[in-house]
Amino acid sequence: MSREQQVVDRTRRAFRTGRSRPLEFRIQQLKRLWSFIKERQEEICEALRRDLGKSELGSELYELLVLEAELKLAISRLAEWAAPRPVEKNLLTLTAEVYVKPEPLGVVLIIGTWNYPWPLTLLPLVGAIAAGNAAIIKPSEVSSNSSKVMEEHLCHYIDQDLYPVVAGGVQETQELLRLRFDHVFYTGSSRVGKLVMEAAAHHLTPVTLELGGKSPCYIDKNSDVRIACRRVTWGKFVNCGQTCIAPDYILCEPCIQGQVVECIRQTLLEFYGADPKCSPDYGRIINQRHFNRILSLMEGYTPVVGGQSDSSQCYIAPTVLKDVPPHSRLMQEEIFGPVLPIVTVSDMDDAISFINEREKPLALYVFCSDKKAIKRMIEETTSGGVTVNDVMMHYTLSSLPFGGVGQSGVGCYHGKHTFDRLSHHRACLVRSLNMESVNLARYPPQDRRRARR
Ligand code: NAD
Repeated sequence: MSREQQVVDRTRRAFRTGRSRPLEFRIQQLKRLWSFIKERQEEICEALRRDLGKSELGSELYELLVLEAELKLAISRLAEWAAPRPVEKNLLTLTAEVYVKPEPLGVVLIIGTWNYPWPLTLLPLVGAIAAGNAAIIKPSEVSSNSSKVMEEHLCHYIDQDLYPVVAGGVQETQELLRLRFDHVFYTGSSRVGKLVMEAAAHHLTPVTLELGGKSPCYIDKNSDVRIACRRVTWGKFVNCGQTCIAPDYILCEPCIQGQVVECIRQTLLEFYGADPKCSPDYGRIINQRHFNRILSLMEGYTPVVGGQSDSSQCYIAPTVLKDVPPHSRLMQEEIFGPVLPIVTVSDMDDAISFINEREKPLALYVFCSDKKAIKRMIEETTSGGVTVNDVMMHYTLSSLPFGGVGQSGVGCYHGKHTFDRLSHHRACLVRSLNMESVNLARYPPQDRRRARR
């Protein structure tokens, strides 16, 4: 029996004891998870520095704050979320109790990813614990330092039989995927997402797939281009472009392209100084493979901003490319790095067609000051989420469901959405044995006189 099989069996046995179900237990485990993050903050930040060159403040801001906010929310709202939800009745069930009861699914497999390894692995866990499940946590081997901290220390805080960490790479993930779970929650590329869904299909296991894709950013010529570029520059280059909802490319009319380039150049200077390589706020590419992949995407272009790189540090400067042909390779693959292409379109109609001709993106960004045009842009396109006149901010709201559509993902989470995603919504109807006469109409023999009686 493989190590993975043993862990899954142990986790299922622990789930069957029923101890993950009482609300007090769930809250206690969520509080312990919170203690883990607080008490191990130093190790976590150090691991993130080694994995992705993140600064301490950046780690707190982009990795830990969101986790703490979700923990706080789940702890304070759990009783409300888990309570039976009464629903409408009909004439035949007027005296019955009719409600929907959220109940745990069982054992959830969480496969995390490396770009924000802490929230993208532990946010699903918050929901899994809150919903009363057991969960197997598989952090990404790619962010190896973060993975190590999780593997070594998490077991000292939360129930290690109910929520074990399984370390390992592709082989271990494949072995896990052969086994039976009650839900698989995967974050990562669409390529692996398909493999996860295929493996889960063998057991008819439901999945949540948080995938990627190319998120477009349209800047209208009638918007405040300077402010738009400031916000885009932040969203594109934070974490060195390795953010699933980063604006992948800019769409704008040729008449503002020059201004867009200049505004981004100025903002980069303000954010990261003359040499971003020396800025404590500018990260690094996760590994050599991704470094080479991003450089190969830039081949054949002359950057109008940036373009420098240093393979010994996996450093790629914030880079802007203009007049990028819509059918180039750069426009087919998700960039997932600090390279920002600008593609020109003739007007908003053209931008809408451009977006709709491609896969449904994880996020869409629109910068525009005309309310009617904004409404139109939202009406006539689709995406997992949309933020207008900013980037990525929809991610920060637990009240908004976060997830993709089509190729960018299946299902959504954050806040109560995670709780609901990882719960079974059981239909409950509880009647008494009284008033048998109201049932006569449905019993055979189906005779009109008896029905009237
Ligand atoms: P990936 O999909 O290659 O790897 C993720 C994990 O899957 C790995 O840690 C590994 O354990 C496993 N894996 C890899 N190959 C496998 C295989 N053949 N069989 C089984 N398991 C396998 O991750 P990546 O491509 O490096 O991640 C980047 C992608 O993730 C981008 O597309 C990005 O947009 C997406 N992403 C999405 C979100 C979101 O919330 N929607 C968040 C972060 C990243």
